[in-house]
Amino acid sequence: MRVHFWGTRGSIATPGASTVEFGGNTLSVEVTTDAGHRLILDCGTGVRLLGMELMKAPGPLRATILLGHTHWDHIQGFPFFAPLFIPGNEFTICAPEGVGASLADVLAGQMEFTYFPVKLDQLPGKITYRELNEGSHQIEGVRILTQYLNHPAICLGYRVEADGVSVVYLTDHEPFSDTLWRADAESGKVESILHHGDRRHAEFMRGADLVIHDSQYTPREYPAKKNWGHSTYEYAVRLAAAVGVKQLALIHHDPLHDDQTMLEIERQAVALAAQHAVGLRVFCAREGEGLIVHPSAAIVQPVSEQRSGTSRQQKRLKVLVVDDDINIHLLAELALARDYDVSSAEDGQACLEAVCKDPPDIIVLDLNMPNMDGLTVLKRVRADASLAELPVLVLTGSGDEASTRTAFEEGATDYLTKPFTIPQLSTRVTTCLARSLNRSM
Ligand SMILES: [Zn+2]
Ligand SMILES: [Zn+2]
Repeated sequence: MRVHFWGTRGSIATPGASTVEFGGNTLSVEVTTDAGHRLILDCGTGVRLLGMELMKAPGPLRATILLGHTHWDHIQGFPFFAPLFIPGNEFTICAPEGVGASLADVLAGQMEFTYFPVKLDQLPGKITYRELNEGSHQIEGVRILTQYLNHPAICLGYRVEADGVSVVYLTDHEPFSDTLWRADAESGKVESILHHGDRRHAEFMRGADLVIHDSQYTPREYPAKKNWGHSTYEYAVRLAAAVGVKQLALIHHDPLHDDQTMLEIERQAVALAAQHAVGLRVFCAREGEGLIVHPSAAIVQPVSEQRSGTSRQQKRLKVLVVDDDINIHLLAELALARDYDVSSAEDGQACLEAVCKDPPDIIVLDLNMPNMDGLTVLKRVRADASLAELPVLVLTGSGDEASTRTAFEEGATDYLTKPFTIPQLSTRVTTCLARSLNRSM
């Protein structure tokens, strides 16, 4: 399998003398299997260069475009991808479902006449749209696993398996928890990871021959950019080392990081990987460079095979928000009312009564409340066999390790710490619900 980096920059293109080495074009990575199937991961401005290269080859082109999400830095090169303008060329474009509009409509938005002279439906190339949920998919004979990432938008990570190797693409994503390892457990092991979201994220890259991972910020920069949806090299290296990844390419470089800064980041990431002594090769992805990924040891399967299908719902799902703070209810209304029927309860007792009367599809649950605290509510809910699978997203001001750990032990589905942003809350509710629907199908 061949991998080529056509765009490595995150957020916005940053051409210029100071970014020559690592590149200024936004994300686009080409993966080609030995059988000749071409996958294009993201269509940032880098995809324009790939398009120019592909135009040199004779004959019609077939390719699969995998979009993690549709923020600008992942789609801005799409209208400038020349093969789209050639009749006979065929493309399948995949992206996560559940963003509130169809994939075709979202892509057509940036090509309205106000922004671009050619409309999406005027492109001569044939385009098929495919909206994906979390699971396992066969696309043109290639096995592709998907998993939701932690970003203020519905965003999928991809694991491509072909030719006896696996390449995993994980951007845009940030740690679910400030604390990676539980204090009472040995760090460096998957089972010692505190937040179930981070553990699932690590398992998704288990044994991969190449992981391409978001590392926009340095550990020093990250606290000021928390909740923006991006990782540090430290997080990526520690997780990759814990699950036997062979090579780690850091990507989604911050626009503020010039080549000198990138070299220093690369030096620090390599030094950190060396501390783990697990033979993990780490580098910062450079625009224009590629590599051939050879089979190494046997592929270790990641997460158990999940059913692929569509979780698109006809009926509106019900979200019960439980918090004694009126402001949280107002924010939840803003975040969720467009897509869901939102109801509220002011304390734990009122929550249980509401669940009894009209069971919701998900509970968003505060921990510290009068009458009955959230943990007691969680225990009561889980004690009822009919509610054992009901998703419960804990939304709390308690970001400490003990609270996080206890909530997961008592059966929390996810754990989000205040202060949070509106896109974050809607994304986490949507991913919890998508998983739950996928399981029950
Ligand atoms: Zn991005
Ligand atoms: Zn993004």
